[in-house]
Amino acid sequence: MDKRNVIVTGAGRGIGRAICVEFAKEGANIVINYSRDAEGAEITKNLCEELGVKAITVAADVAKYNEAEKLFAACEEAFGMPHILVNNAGITKDNLLMRMSEEDFDKVIEVNLKGSFNCTKLAVSSMSKKRYGRIINIASVVGLSGNIGQANYAASKAGLIGLTKSVAKELARRNVTVNAIAPGFIETDMTLNLPDEVKSAMLSSIPANRFGQAEDVAKAAVFLAGEAADYITGQVISVDGGMHM
Ligand code: NAP
Repeated sequence: MDKRNVIVTGAGRGIGRAICVEFAKEGANIVINYSRDAEGAEITKNLCEELGVKAITVAADVAKYNEAEKLFAACEEAFGMPHILVNNAGITKDNLLMRMSEEDFDKVIEVNLKGSFNCTKLAVSSMSKKRYGRIINIASVVGLSGNIGQANYAASKAGLIGLTKSVAKELARRNVTVNAIAPGFIETDMTLNLPDEVKSAMLSSIPANRFGQAEDVAKAAVFLAGEAADYITGQVISVDGGMHM
């Protein structure tokens, strides 16, 4: 990964931060995107720099194409265009379908799916020209199995899997691989405030009998970007302790 440029969206905390740190351990230049949490992004930057790599933070709402453009322009100016893109930014707005507002459906699709489309579109031209690119989309177990109260989120993540496979087919000849990771229940701010009964129901559905850590997902991302995965494209790798088989 030495001298590779990596953009990680939504990297001010949680899984995105862990992905930045794992890529920093490999010597990559790190572009840390966030939308609101500048302080969190700065902490991620410090963690990367302590590992001896260069890192920048860039504020951009990836759901907006013009802001995603600013993210790529900042990467280009600091390091050159990215070799690796991790579409990690994501939100939830859970509710039963009967109670789900149109706004909450649209917002989740805009960030999780459209945001990944925006960044992928901005990444592929230079990757195609360079005949090298690694795109990793952070989907979810819920995109594979559905979940009560998450029609918007599950649809966004299932859509992301469709996006992954389509772009993988389009770009495989140019040595650009596109894969998805489907995390199960990972202990981050996203899952912190779920009620205890939901957490214990989740735990009982995990054969490994433990919740995942952000590092479990980050290590899979580094694997998919590394030489060992050169011939892997269009795949969905579950990182879920066996939750979905
Ligand atoms: P998290 O702790 O809530 O972090 C989400 C990150 O996304 C934050 O840094 C947030 O930054 C950023 N973000 C949100 N909207 C954004 C936007 N419009 N533009 C740019 N950044 C934005 O969540 P996490 O658990 O680390 O989740 C990371 C990814 O893994 C998500 O795609 C999530 O769906 C997926 N995932 C998580 C789990 C889990 O159990 N935790 C399971 C499966 C999949 P700001 O605060 O600056 O907005």
